[in-house]
Amino acid sequence: MPSPDPAPVPDPAVPPSSGADGALPIIDLPASGPQDARPGISDASPQELLSWFSDRGEAAFRARQLADHVWSGRARSFDDIHTLPGPLRAALGEAYRFFTLTNTETQATDGGLTHKALHTLDDGRVVESVLMRYPARGSRRERTTLCISSQAGCAVGCPFCATGELGLWRDLRTSEIIDQARYWRNELAADGRRLSNVVFMGMGEPLLNPDAVMAACGALSDGNRFGLGQRHITVSTSGVIPGIERMTSLRRQYKLAVSLHAARSDLRDVLVPLNRRYPLEDVVAAATDYADATGRRVTYEMVMIDRINDTPVDARAAAQLLRGRLAHVNLIPMNPVAHTPWQPSSPERVEAFAATLRAVGLHTTVRRNRGIDIGAACGQLAAEKAGQPAPAAVQRRRDVIERRSAQALQGGAGGAEEGSRA
Ligand code: SAH
Ligand code: SF4
Repeated sequence: MPSPDPAPVPDPAVPPSSGADGALPIIDLPASGPQDARPGISDASPQELLSWFSDRGEAAFRARQLADHVWSGRARSFDDIHTLPGPLRAALGEAYRFFTLTNTETQATDGGLTHKALHTLDDGRVVESVLMRYPARGSRRERTTLCISSQAGCAVGCPFCATGELGLWRDLRTSEIIDQARYWRNELAADGRRLSNVVFMGMGEPLLNPDAVMAACGALSDGNRFGLGQRHITVSTSGVIPGIERMTSLRRQYKLAVSLHAARSDLRDVLVPLNRRYPLEDVVAAATDYADATGRRVTYEMVMIDRINDTPVDARAAAQLLRGRLAHVNLIPMNPVAHTPWQPSSPERVEAFAATLRAVGLHTTVRRNRGIDIGAACGQLAAEKAGQPAPAAVQRRRDVIERRSAQALQGGAGGAEEGSRA
């Protein structure tokens, strides 16, 4: 069970702004514009669309004609759906937006294997999605994985994450989440390619926006809508226990990824401030229930930060916590963004960490950072778009992060290195 809300930790060095502990957002949010009152067409359930047509005396097949274009066609607007009569297209345009994302700017990197998009929402906020292509290898077919955002910004405030610098702007609507996938499906279709996987590893904490995220997962995995298999959708969470429990009760086959980052509470309190609300043992217990209920192996993600969480003591703590569970550990060398004072772990340290996990039988992989040169770590482009923080704020952020991690590491990194040799 989650523990009750922690007492706030006052920190005189930082203003009481947003963020889980009020410490880390340093970028001033631009004012938001008015929101478009019309829902996105991908917000509408099949039943809702049937009712919409029948209310206008239209036959049910009209709803199917519309759905074909919304979910699999290449239409860019209702006007492109020539199978529907003009007045109906106009009425649809008054009731719904065909796309909720506008002014998408894209950048390519990795020799064209990674594409990053910055989408503008109706109120002027921006969110990112990243498309990663994995060419065919041996018997494995080519895969294309899309990383999407669930919120504009994020309140959790992990100190190594670019989105964490922004604080939370707002939750995304279901359609704003789905439309990132629709955008890329259309782009890929133009090349005769298709999307294989969707991962909620862009901006935001998906399980702090659970209604919209679960509705989006439902639409993305519905054979009559986006049509991606449940097993091809991954929800990554920093450990929101009620959200994990909700996923367990749904009994779907979505993949669950838990951003663990540290198996010691004092360190995880710093790396994932939500740990003070949902402690890691309880998070892992909830994730294990998910694995037991669904038979799906949970992925534990660990961003590897040099001499912060990559010590032998930390490796042994993670091995101890996860051994024997239906788990897969993914080690991700930190992408050095977000004005953190930290550096990524060296390949040697990551390999040593992986070896400790493998020694207790844990399936462990090391992820190569994709799109690092265009800042594919979630939120970096959006943060840049929002403007440069004041140098004093950057310095204050670094000081706060260093002070907190030094406290967590007391007797830690140095001692941890020693301890390993015992
Ligand atoms: N909020 C969710 C999902 C979005 S973040 C979560 O935290 O799980 C998706 C993943 O990107 C998380 O595992 C997160 O820790 C990781 N990430 C964030 N910043 C990163 C960075 N600078 N380098 C490497 N991975 C990072
Ligand atoms: Fe939010 Fe995830 Fe970034 Fe943490 S890592 S600040 S939870 S988006």
